[in-house]
Amino acid sequence: MSEAGPPAKPTHFLRALIEQDLAAGTWDGRRFGGSPGDAAHHAAGPVDPARIRTRFPPEPNGYLHIGHAKSICLNFGLARDYGGICHLRFDDTNPEKEEQEYVDAIVEMVRWLGFDWEAGGSSHLYHASDYFDFMYLAAERLVERGLAYVDEQTPEQMRASRGDFATPGTASPFRDRAPADNLARLREMRDGRHADGAMVLRAKIDMASPNLNLRDPAIYRIKHARHHATGDRWCIYPMYTYAHPIEDALEGITHSLCTLEFEDQRPFYDWLLERLAEPATLPDGRELAPMLRRPLPRQIEFGRLNLTYVITSKRRLKALVDDGIVSGWDDPRMPTLAGLRRRGYTPAAIRQMADDTGASKTNIWVDHAVLEGALRADLEGKARRAMAVLDPLPLVLTNWAEVFGSATHLEPCSAPAHPQRPELGARRFHLGPEVWIEREDFAVDPPKGYHRLVPPRMQPDGTTAPGGRVRLKYGYVAECTGFDRADDGGVARVHARIVPDTKSGTPGADAVKVKGTIGWVAACDAMPATVHLYEHLFTEPQPDAGGRDPREVLNPASLRSVQAWVEPSLAGIEAETHVQFERHGYFVADRREHAPGHAVFNRTTTLKDGRGR
Ligand code: ATP
Ligand code: MG
Repeated sequence: MSEAGPPAKPTHFLRALIEQDLAAGTWDGRRFGGSPGDAAHHAAGPVDPARIRTRFPPEPNGYLHIGHAKSICLNFGLARDYGGICHLRFDDTNPEKEEQEYVDAIVEMVRWLGFDWEAGGSSHLYHASDYFDFMYLAAERLVERGLAYVDEQTPEQMRASRGDFATPGTASPFRDRAPADNLARLREMRDGRHADGAMVLRAKIDMASPNLNLRDPAIYRIKHARHHATGDRWCIYPMYTYAHPIEDALEGITHSLCTLEFEDQRPFYDWLLERLAEPATLPDGRELAPMLRRPLPRQIEFGRLNLTYVITSKRRLKALVDDGIVSGWDDPRMPTLAGLRRRGYTPAAIRQMADDTGASKTNIWVDHAVLEGALRADLEGKARRAMAVLDPLPLVLTNWAEVFGSATHLEPCSAPAHPQRPELGARRFHLGPEVWIEREDFAVDPPKGYHRLVPPRMQPDGTTAPGGRVRLKYGYVAECTGFDRADDGGVARVHARIVPDTKSGTPGADAVKVKGTIGWVAACDAMPATVHLYEHLFTEPQPDAGGRDPREVLNPASLRSVQAWVEPSLAGIEAETHVQFERHGYFVADRREHAPGHAVFNRTTTLKDGRGR
């Protein structure tokens, strides 16, 4: 190839928009005061070294879920790709539902996904509650300019006078109150002189606007509630739609990416920021400088990510936790990042899924298999291998003493820790006279085409067909000679003979051909383990479709726990280690319960799509 070709086409519309902005120099030369602040603060700072600024603004009222991961990957990813900075901002304007526990969990999960907010020697982790003073001052400014008023109607009256799509709203009797009276009232609200719900501050825009969000939206309400960060300092709190644009502007955000449901809020977003960024003259002649600097942030909406078999509403996820349907926010069946992590999902797989699904102007449903595919692709190269028997049946090798000269002999075996990664070395374990095999690897009445252990059988012609032969993986060929029945009629134990000189890796290994290879672990050194086998939490791909309560479609088989035997090479592994149990799938040592001497594994996913999920 000679010269670089034409620039690669942006993979989605957000990239295209940012590239246009960068090409047009839309954001060039704007200043950044080193921290969030008002117009004067930024004007005094140097030119912003960040070419763009984005932000991920969770409300700390729950744990992050896979939908948030999409937003995190977009915001942090775009900032990284275009020489920008992404802020982590806690949108903590709603005191009652927010908690420090959630704040901490969010920080941990964004880091876990592989992103951070340190840039240019400073940390860009912010809290909307840090801006309460500014937000309040801005509210007073709107009141003084006659752009906001205190409405003392009841909530019902307000709702009724708002009108609907077909009917314009009607003005509140308080709409034309004088700015000085409104200001006094607002200060009373702030000073705790009124009860919750007694009045609200509303922006004065247009009661006849076809956009209902412009019909004098509430911007401050009274809430005598303790805030997890500001304590009892405030008893009025800004509404989200008022707070959010201000947060973006104070932080110098260039591209404020949000989900589609905020599209109708954009006119208010722009209205508010324009009012606060324009100079103003008060009725008494006072000249006021702009409170916010330009250029103003721009809100851009993209479609939500929905994943099949999963719900992504914090409220609904919380109900699962509160009802005890799952063990907590990090239950491995939860689509929270904490749950996915515990299940064994990797940050790389989640980021890959986010990249692969791009961004569009419609809400999208992504098949859960897409995420699992990305996960398998990541784990294939990472996960060490081991044998595990999840549904154990004893197999006795009856000619052991004969073949090895001693009933107590243990035969050393080895296997690569990873078939494509010799640098990871070998796993070592023993074969002994008693081993555990998978119950499904033995059949008294085998179905057609079954190539594993079957007992010798009488044929119609009176002769006896020999028992089935299999290779005990990494060990010897064994031939079934019979089995014992348990009292309940099931199979208690299988008998087999070792075929001498057939050990894997020796010249005789190929002398005897077998059609089946089975996993095993020897009773002499197998390690007991609790294994949790997970499936989707819901039986329906769209659990909350049409407003259905997802609790109506719970999958009763979403968790099955078994007592398994696993290879001794897993004895020292740490929690969160990924392992491929050969033939069974990918598993992870549980980060909460796994400990030395107490092995606990979660099935992350099966080896192939659609099996046993
Ligand atoms: P929930 O409805 O679960 O409470 P939310 O959107 O209210 O979610 P926030 O904490 O406000 O949760 O969200 C933080 C950011 O994550 C927002 O910018 C929001 O748009 C984005 N986000 C949330 N869910 C999704 C999703 N499913 N797909 C893409 N982005 C999402
Ligand atoms: Mg929200």
